[in-house]
Amino acid sequence: MRRIAPFETAPEAALSGQVNVDLSAISDNIKALRKRTDAPHFMAVVKGNGYGRGLIDVARTALEAGADWLGTAQLSEAVALRRAGITVPVLSWLYLASQTSATIREALEHDVDVSLGSVRQLEVLAGIARHVGRPAVVHLELDSGLSRGGARKEDWAGLVAKARAAEKDGTLKVRGIWTHLAWADVPAHPGNAAAVAEFEDAVREAHAAGLEPQLRHVSSSANILDRPEFHFDMVRAGLAIYGLAPADHLNPADFGLRPALTVTAPLVMVKKVPAGTGVSYEHQAITHEPRYLGLIPLGYADGIPKGISGRSLVQIAGRKVPVIGKVCMDQFMVDLGPDAAGIDVGDIAVLFGDPASGAASADDWGAAIGSHGDEIISRIAPRLPRVYQSSAYECPDYQEEAPSHVH
Ligand SMILES: *Cc1c(COP(=O)(O)O)cnc(C)c1O
Repeated sequence: MRRIAPFETAPEAALSGQVNVDLSAISDNIKALRKRTDAPHFMAVVKGNGYGRGLIDVARTALEAGADWLGTAQLSEAVALRRAGITVPVLSWLYLASQTSATIREALEHDVDVSLGSVRQLEVLAGIARHVGRPAVVHLELDSGLSRGGARKEDWAGLVAKARAAEKDGTLKVRGIWTHLAWADVPAHPGNAAAVAEFEDAVREAHAAGLEPQLRHVSSSANILDRPEFHFDMVRAGLAIYGLAPADHLNPADFGLRPALTVTAPLVMVKKVPAGTGVSYEHQAITHEPRYLGLIPLGYADGIPKGISGRSLVQIAGRKVPVIGKVCMDQFMVDLGPDAAGIDVGDIAVLFGDPASGAASADDWGAAIGSHGDEIISRIAPRLPRVYQSSAYECPDYQEEAPSHVH
């Protein structure tokens, strides 16, 4: 039987679960994605702690694989990248505009580019830039329909004029113009073409006002895969670099992408119960025959959604077994069936990982709760130890059996 590459085991994982991060998957995914775009620049989006995989390790891997920009929502994550010694351009797009913000000041001091979507934000950035002693480098954000950050088109001319004035007095430098699409996850939706047309108008208006932005950027993962005409000067890739489906109709495997994350946990107890046994709080599940139950030491405090109860998502000894009863804060039970021969305490359960290995995917988990894989993986709690596997990782045992998988 062919074995899958085992991960190292964190010492803590003997008790809890662990998040296995396959950095070589992230690296391979980025290389595959770069081949799909002619955009000269490639931003790896590492917000949300690198989509749950660890900010710094993911960022370093992404840069080695060919990304030349990093993106975070929060300024503090951008500053953390700088503190780790990362010097490539970083864009951040979510902050409270306050004149006394130490976070903004720190970001500007660390050469973090920030998004700019209102005159109020502009005045704050310009004021802080004056103290820091150099211009704030910004990417003007158009709200092309998401109604999240950014300036609406009716406010665009005013923002652009103020930005140009601030450039002249040395407090601002407009490096980019960008938007994020409301229909990003549905590439064929006509709303995207309409938003891109609005974006192109906004770029023209900025040029007419005397701004010279070098970078126009619009596309996140789904449009990287599906809409080359929306790539402009840079793409911003998140989900796809982690091997997750960016849209329902886009199967990562079809694009040579594979999941970079496997969540595992040991079975900490296996027990036989008779027919008619209620399981977990309020006995929402009752066994109809003698069954074996397995106890998994992860719960909703670790990011395991309560909504997975009843779903066959957990892979143990090569087969998928259902979650039985309510998920508790730190633990949940699985139904191992009427016969647990060959299953023992300490056996490793795969909650989700690479479907190619027979495990459920994070997207399967997302679908089970009416959401997507991104919600599942970004909620995996920081308390779970991360164990990194990279191309340098070697397992002699495995190498003998399947050398083609070790790079
Ligand atoms: C999260 C995010 C991205 C990446 O989106 P994916 O769908 O994960 O590729 C790109 N741009 C912005 C502004 C984002 O917030």
